[in-house]
Amino acid sequence: MEFDKALSDILEVKKPWFIREIDVHKGTKSVNVFIDYEERTTFKCPNCEQQCKVHDSRYRVWRHLNIVDYRCYLNVKVPRIKCDRHKVLVIGEVPWGRLNIHFTHLFEQEVMKLCAEMSVSAVAKQLGEVDTTLWSIFHYQIEQAKKKQLNFSEVRRICVDETASKRGHNYVTIFSDADSGDVLYATEGRTQESFAGLYSELFEHMGDPNYINQFIMDMSKSYKAGWAQYFSHTQIIFDRFHIKKGLNEAIDKVRKSEVGHVEKLKRTRYLWLKNQCDLNEVETRMLKEFMEDCNYNTVKAYSLKAGFDQLWNVQPKAVEPLLEVWINKAKNTYLAPIKTFINTIKNNYNGIISSMKTGLTNAAAEGINSIIQLTKSRARGFRNVNNFISMIYMLGNDFKFYHSTK
Ligand SMILES: [Zn+2]
Repeated sequence: MEFDKALSDILEVKKPWFIREIDVHKGTKSVNVFIDYEERTTFKCPNCEQQCKVHDSRYRVWRHLNIVDYRCYLNVKVPRIKCDRHKVLVIGEVPWGRLNIHFTHLFEQEVMKLCAEMSVSAVAKQLGEVDTTLWSIFHYQIEQAKKKQLNFSEVRRICVDETASKRGHNYVTIFSDADSGDVLYATEGRTQESFAGLYSELFEHMGDPNYINQFIMDMSKSYKAGWAQYFSHTQIIFDRFHIKKGLNEAIDKVRKSEVGHVEKLKRTRYLWLKNQCDLNEVETRMLKEFMEDCNYNTVKAYSLKAGFDQLWNVQPKAVEPLLEVWINKAKNTYLAPIKTFINTIKNNYNGIISSMKTGLTNAAAEGINSIIQLTKSRARGFRNVNNFISMIYMLGNDFKFYHSTK
């Protein structure tokens, strides 16, 4: 009986519950623990809380944490009570697990702990369960954690990013706190409506759109429209990476239009796109050779790049005059893609100037990027958009998965 007592402590079996029997099966390496309740126990009606007599009962099984390497199952005699007002119904809860699921709270907690460290399919393998089962636990736990643990009352600056859950399909928009890096809201699509979702989500978690003062995002039409509709009182700051990408794309277009008659430019795409400090020795020498001959349009376009990058490193009051100088220099190249890029600057002027002036680093955006990469590997093989979104919440927040026995 000493063992029973110890096991009762470990499994937190408290009155009126008691362990009736323990069945160890060597062949299947499983332990079945049978838990009953004391005779004449009354239970609360889940609807009106009145103490009621038991009508009948049957065993329900929950998988629990392993005991050493034996699978452990709790077979709990779950009563149905007879309430005067609500007739016969199952009691509202048992201490070990949710009533409609075959895993204990501690098992679910273990699933979440493992999912933070490895892919869901690896967790499924380790625990010997199918991954669809684990995903449903996962979604439930994430929803609970969101409900109880997300608090947006301190959020002031929001980053907006997009990613595809599968290559080229199912876009997901991710809003994150630019200061803490936490994921606030992730949703399918990359539309104006994504911002509507964020707007109501803020209220849901003690936030207030009026407390938000900055949005950091790319220059896409739909995001701009979403911002204008719901957050036009905030400052818009275009993401440095996306602005620079615009110039890189323009340079690449220039190269493409020239590569047909300049053999030397073939296979040099990355030479012009990479940062100078990332070039290897051979590339550096190649670039130097090109730069000595500024008759190439590609060289002309490329020579605008360093000056443009510098605009993020100058005094805020110097940004606008220096940008003006840069634009004039860029105009003088008479290159169509560069002209288009100048128009982009003009159409997004305030957000670009703000980016240069605030000198906001891409740290937050990079943080989100690494979360996205990690999400892709954790949700591997099971990348439907909902799994993907739940995994983003998991990896983008510091959720705690509690368990408490009443
Ligand atoms: Zn009742």
